[in-house]
Amino acid sequence: MGHMPEAETTTMPPFETLDLDDLHGDLTRVAGMIADRIAHIADAPVVHPASHDAIVATIPGDLPVEGIGVDAALQEVADHVAPFATRIGHPRFLAWITTSPAPAGTIGDVLSTGLNQAPLSFKGGPAATVLEEIVLGWFHRLLGFPEGAGGTIVSGGTMANLMGLTVARHAHFPEVGTRGLCALDKTPVLYVSDQGHMSIERSAALLGLGSENVRAIPSDAACRIIPEALRERIRADRAAGFAPFCVVGQAGTVTAGAVDPLDTLADICADEGLWLHVDAAYGGAALLTQHGRSLLHGIERADSVCVDPHKWFFIPLECGCTLFRDRTVQTDTFKAKAAYLGQESPHDLKNTTFILSRANRALKVWFAFRTYGTAKLARIIERNMAQARLFHDLCTESPEWQVLAPVALSIACARFVPSAMAGAPHWDEAATDRLQVALLQRLEQSGEGFLTPALVRGRAGVRLCVANHRTTDDDIRMLFDLMSRFGRELAALGPEGLHA
Ligand SMILES: *Cc1c(COP(=O)(O)O)cnc(C)c1O
Repeated sequence: MGHMPEAETTTMPPFETLDLDDLHGDLTRVAGMIADRIAHIADAPVVHPASHDAIVATIPGDLPVEGIGVDAALQEVADHVAPFATRIGHPRFLAWITTSPAPAGTIGDVLSTGLNQAPLSFKGGPAATVLEEIVLGWFHRLLGFPEGAGGTIVSGGTMANLMGLTVARHAHFPEVGTRGLCALDKTPVLYVSDQGHMSIERSAALLGLGSENVRAIPSDAACRIIPEALRERIRADRAAGFAPFCVVGQAGTVTAGAVDPLDTLADICADEGLWLHVDAAYGGAALLTQHGRSLLHGIERADSVCVDPHKWFFIPLECGCTLFRDRTVQTDTFKAKAAYLGQESPHDLKNTTFILSRANRALKVWFAFRTYGTAKLARIIERNMAQARLFHDLCTESPEWQVLAPVALSIACARFVPSAMAGAPHWDEAATDRLQVALLQRLEQSGEGFLTPALVRGRAGVRLCVANHRTTDDDIRMLFDLMSRFGRELAALGPEGLHA
């Protein structure tokens, strides 16, 4: 026992919490900052031109031992963070498949953070658990999945594909979970088109299947898998002693938005006894429209489907989703038991996914869908499709542009071809490839728009992906005119001028 100080000289440290003096006022200011940002989303360059070094020099980075208080910290966000934030909701942000988030989704996200639920077990978030069941039920209905379907809400499409392939592996090789891949006498192989998303190969690598055991099946001129080539490859693999177990169909390829013939893939999987996983991370939202439903016909026969609410459902990052035709295979893969988890309930979401602590992502999806209704979302998705076709048509009609793939959903890929211009015969294909990237850099530097490149059958081009509720037809025409102008200016410099 140490020396006890005299009672009258004892100074107890004050009882501290992290509560703020005026949380109400602070949150009101934050709400104002968010609302102003959204209201003025198009009032500054889409991507801030500052370098990494410049931002490092600006944002305070030393570990703060003594805090500066909420007022000063908020001011730092306003001065040093927000200005460098990319304007992802800008009407001419048409890069990757990164959506302009619906403001109601943002509200839902803020509420979800504020309520801070832990729906790993029912007791950690009773309403959150039910919200997730409701949202999964909506997606089941959209897909045409039967009673008894399951699913899980995750961070995004990469995770959703990993979850789908994890359950596929467990369904075909249940012993791997306990005894590892070395328990198998044949090497498992899976199939996806050569347009497959990189997350399929990454999942195979993580699951110990090996990325080389993902067979890239050739695609046709419209970037859709060639079913005969798939059948042939499955036959050859079986003959060579491999164990085919899964086909991944792409419903909206990441490059061109192509949709594989899902009904035919389902036939092949039925004939061959294979798991059908459909990666509809982007294209799943098209199921809200007539055109999308006919294009994605057959998706209702899949065993698992990946859909990304943070892609074309206009939900703010992050939110992905895997749906399973049969909930029991999913829970058999992921059932989580441990004494420290406490009382079990049949509704515990910990048994539906690999992770344990999880946010209540369903709330923002539920809130946005409740706010707008699917009919309104469908109209915007249809408009986005028409806008991609508009860009495609402008390129088709122009001698300066060459379209690289047909438009299936809301992605258009095209190539600016200076060789079509008088006095530019010295542009070979490789230099023309470089021109596309230079053109996109020009566009980004202008602050007027942001698009990403595409590589379609070895040829580079610009790729316009409209998953944006603010984009107007005039935005599309303006982007076309701007990129044509930049293309001409760069072409006039000649291939040597590209690096200047
Ligand atoms: C975006 C995308 C993914 C990956 O999703 P993330 O949410 O970015 O992880 C997978 N597949 C397709 C077809 C996609 O478009």
